[in-house]
Amino acid sequence: MEKFNVIVIGAGHAGCEAALACARMGQTALLVTMNLDAIAQMSCNPAIGGIAKGQMVRELDALGGEMGKVTDEAGLQFRMLNMSRGPAVWSPRAQCDKRLYSLSMKNRLESQPNLKILQAEATRIIIESGKTAGIETKTGTVINSDSVILTAGTFLKGLIHVGLTHFSGGRFGELSSETLSDSLKALGFEIKRLKTGTPPRLNGRTIDFSKMKEQPGDNPPIPFSHFTNTQEFKNKLQLACWLTYTNKTTHDIINSNLDRSPLYQGVIKGIGPRYCPSIEDKIVRFAERERHQVFLEPEGFGTHEFYANGISTSLPEDVQEKIVHSIVGLENTQIIRYGYAIEYDFFPPTQLKSTLETKAVENLYFAGQVNGTTGYEEAAAQGLMAGINCALKLKGKEPFILNRDEAYIGVMIDELITRGVDEPYRMFTARAEYRLMLRSDNADLRLMDHGHSTGLINDEQFSRFDNYRKALADRLDGKETEMKEELLFPWTKEKIDFEVEVDKKYAPYILRQKEVIEKTGKLENKRLPENVNYDSMTGLLTEAKQRLNRVRPATIGQASRIPGVTPADIAVVLINLAKEKAGK
Ligand SMILES: Cc1cc2nc3c(=O)[nH]c(=O)nc-3n(C[C@H](O)[C@H](O)[C@H](O)COP(=O)(O)OP(=O)(O)OC[C@H]3O[C@@H](n4cnc5c(N)ncnc54)[C@H](O)[C@@H]3O)c2cc1C
Repeated sequence: MEKFNVIVIGAGHAGCEAALACARMGQTALLVTMNLDAIAQMSCNPAIGGIAKGQMVRELDALGGEMGKVTDEAGLQFRMLNMSRGPAVWSPRAQCDKRLYSLSMKNRLESQPNLKILQAEATRIIIESGKTAGIETKTGTVINSDSVILTAGTFLKGLIHVGLTHFSGGRFGELSSETLSDSLKALGFEIKRLKTGTPPRLNGRTIDFSKMKEQPGDNPPIPFSHFTNTQEFKNKLQLACWLTYTNKTTHDIINSNLDRSPLYQGVIKGIGPRYCPSIEDKIVRFAERERHQVFLEPEGFGTHEFYANGISTSLPEDVQEKIVHSIVGLENTQIIRYGYAIEYDFFPPTQLKSTLETKAVENLYFAGQVNGTTGYEEAAAQGLMAGINCALKLKGKEPFILNRDEAYIGVMIDELITRGVDEPYRMFTARAEYRLMLRSDNADLRLMDHGHSTGLINDEQFSRFDNYRKALADRLDGKETEMKEELLFPWTKEKIDFEVEVDKKYAPYILRQKEVIEKTGKLENKRLPENVNYDSMTGLLTEAKQRLNRVRPATIGQASRIPGVTPADIAVVLINLAKEKAGK
């Protein structure tokens, strides 16, 4: 096969964004994935967005990513969460038709110039003279490339648990990737294990919805993508979700079967997502709670399959039957797929630079679940950033790094590479110190300039956005200029009215935040020389030297967020750097 500029391993949420970004930025790209029928598969919940995650999808969209557009196409229910609170924490979320989502993404990959897709398993990354040179597939084919982006998700030595039985697999019904992580371990990469889990799926024809509370979508629904026609979107067909609860019988069944739980018998060693616990975990940790919510979410327009959100479990199949049948409305329900847990290899992300390139091997990037994150949105955002940076580096251009005051995506990458993870990392609004500024409604104003400068937002899209931005600025200045609606489209006058209201509400607080950013910004963004020698710094404690050497932060801001690095250590580093500069 011909040589490519970039090979992306894995067509999950990270891999699709990475491959599209590289190809659209003019690089020849190959996306290699184990199963072409599982492109951008939602391994768990058929939903995109949610608190803080929804903001990230809007950011991704403003930067020229694909997740928002695909969600608008494949969504079957749209809700803006947190609407009882201020717009700073409003978060869009959509239930999706899972097959439609996958097909829509596959279509986009297939029709993308510069991009080739291939069903194959990468078994080894080829390194020559410390640089990435390509991959080898399971059938022994060698494909050469200048760069590789690894986005293998939960597949690296994936081990599936149902009760005390376990077997290898990347997801249920799919093979795991058994040798790839060994090839990286041999190169010196650190590897650890994490765990996640999923609930049973149910046959909707056997659910008694009359006993449950209906959860309709918003009317009118608000789209994810800045480029979706909001007028047409108002007519979008939506399906309902349903709410029921666990009860004392459910909890008794779980408690009396903990001896058959791989989680409580120590069979599962990897740490699971704290904020997405299994039902057995919830019963044990919150023993005082009398019931837990169970949302029944449709998996598609053309299927009766329902996702039982809230009862993720790795208990044995017979226990899962009893749990489901103990819940009101599910007394006679058929389980059509059992829940399970999965353990997998990941690479502690302190091994990465801010561009998501590995420190150990040039032109090798990691993105998504392999970096210890959980969630489609976190994965997609990393995929996009890795793709952009890979393409920029190949063009000999400066890296693209988002600051913490610009985007949740910036917050996430900063935390991953400086602090690492000891449990699956997911995004929350509370992680962002400047969340009043990082809203879902202003992702375009924050980031579309960047999207345009990388080329992922084209001139036509950008000029419409720019018209909207000018019209908004005029309104905020009190000028009554009348911009023709078709020049703004798909932005609308309604959106301008909304932003004016938000500005009225937040302007003084945002001004204060900007002042803080300005004051701290100089130090926050002060770059550390790449070859800085912490070992030779006088006055720096050995622990601090070790911590700084492990992460090798790019800026003083990042150095200050490394766990265990104190303000005193930072002061010592600054003094040493100043002395060095002065030649003392
Ligand atoms: C059982 C289960 C439960 C989950 N539960 C939750 C949850 O509750 N909440 C949550 O937020 N997230 C959950 N997730 C995680 C969510 O699925 C991931 O965060 C997200 O899909 C990660 O995207 P990704 O692109 O990194 O990887 P994935 O979506 O896993 O995609 C990886 C892709 O890489 C391909 N691949 C792997 N190895 C190779 C190879 N060697 N060669 C070629 N192709 C390869 C695979 O075929 C796959 O297409 C769960 C995942 C699973 C499996």
